[in-house]
Amino acid sequence: MDDRKWTKLKISLKKSIGENNFNNWLSPIEFSHVEEDVAIFTVPTNFLGNYVSQNFGEIIVAQISLEVNKINRIRFEVDNKSNNLASSQPSAPAHISFPKDNELTGAQLDKRFTFDAFVVGKPNELAHAAARRVAEGGDVSFNPLFLYGGVGLGKTHLMHAIAWELSNRRPDINVLYLSAEQFMYRFVQALRERKMMDFKQLFRSVDILMVDDVQFIAGKGSTQEEFFHTFNALVDQNKQIIISGDRAPGEIKDLEDRIKSRLQSGLVVDLHPTDYELRLGILQSKVERQKQQYPELSIDNNVLEFLALRISTNVRVLEGALTRLFAFASLIGRHITLEVAQDCLADVLRASERKITVEEIQRKVSEHYNIRLSDMIGPKRLRTYARPRQIAMFLSKQLTSRSLPEIGRRFGGRDHTTVMHGVKRIEELRAQDGQIAEDLEMLRRALEA
Ligand code: ADP
Ligand code: MG
Repeated sequence: MDDRKWTKLKISLKKSIGENNFNNWLSPIEFSHVEEDVAIFTVPTNFLGNYVSQNFGEIIVAQISLEVNKINRIRFEVDNKSNNLASSQPSAPAHISFPKDNELTGAQLDKRFTFDAFVVGKPNELAHAAARRVAEGGDVSFNPLFLYGGVGLGKTHLMHAIAWELSNRRPDINVLYLSAEQFMYRFVQALRERKMMDFKQLFRSVDILMVDDVQFIAGKGSTQEEFFHTFNALVDQNKQIIISGDRAPGEIKDLEDRIKSRLQSGLVVDLHPTDYELRLGILQSKVERQKQQYPELSIDNNVLEFLALRISTNVRVLEGALTRLFAFASLIGRHITLEVAQDCLADVLRASERKITVEEIQRKVSEHYNIRLSDMIGPKRLRTYARPRQIAMFLSKQLTSRSLPEIGRRFGGRDHTTVMHGVKRIEELRAQDGQIAEDLEMLRRALEA
């Protein structure tokens, strides 16, 4: 590969990952040289290398190997010439490799997905406890363990954590983790290559089988059939099985009834959507971890609260936002304030915007304090009206993306300085007055529900 090919590649990469991603992440990267089957790039910071490797590694490898046959890995090295924040770190090169499909191993386990890194809160405590129990590797007490929940709530994380824990505690046993999609792929391949005996033997020889995202095989007749047989064979041998799905077994469409009932026969636990506390906990734990690696990182506390409040879709989105902030901090070398965060994450915030409106907030707050909506918006300055008004202003600032002048307009055409004053006042009161803090919390919950 040469510079000209890299230029060409950059154009196609820009197409596949989009202009924004490209400018943010790939444009700081320089092609360096090739060593055997590895293409080596220089990056300004380790962080950027890691990020690109994790998020775009596969695409880059795929596209390079189209251009240059022999390359099937990439590596990032920190360019020591550029003297910014992270280049003072020892440069452990991030790399991603593509082992050829190996018959005996399952999918790669993510090193970050351990129990240590899993934050437990109300919404996931049951699933976590069940996963812990299975990971002890003692008696098989519930079989299968079925974990389910929406996207990004930690199913895969928990499964990997079980696999890591078991392989530490019981190196003698054979743990196989794979996605239902990979199960199907292997099954189809075995059929095509007439290696069904090997396939059956392989799956029946594992001690612990973990199949992620089982909903994938719904509607896929012969894969389901084979899955069913594998499942039964292992249960008969008293081998532990752990399955995940995006919903309860009974609710997976086009899944055979006998499989549904098999899946229901052990312990079924679900991961509930995250709540504010869990999201904040996850963010705090990620920041702590990141700080161990990059002690220079500094991030205002209210940034995390803001993110936990505003990004409630799923943990993956939350993490992505944080990762971008870290990268930003490390590239620009700047302290992360709320303003920096809002700026840097404008697109993410817009996408996960809840549809809470100022009007809705006004209504809820006036109900709560038992005043008329017209008094909340009108000119009366009595504390009985002014305080709820300020609370509604504060919540409007916090829960909507309206600017101060826009909020002012919705409060009977008040000036933005009045809104600002109101927001500040409530911020102060929240710190001093337990009742106000409690009211705010209750109103926020009610509005988010
Ligand atoms: P799912 O498989 O349910 O779609 P994942 O397990 O892939 O979700 O989780 C998405 C991301 O969120 C992962 O990076 C994972 O580490 C993170 N995550 C989810 N829940 C937690 C948690 N409770 N603590 C820490 N990280 C979490
Ligand atoms: Mg998953």
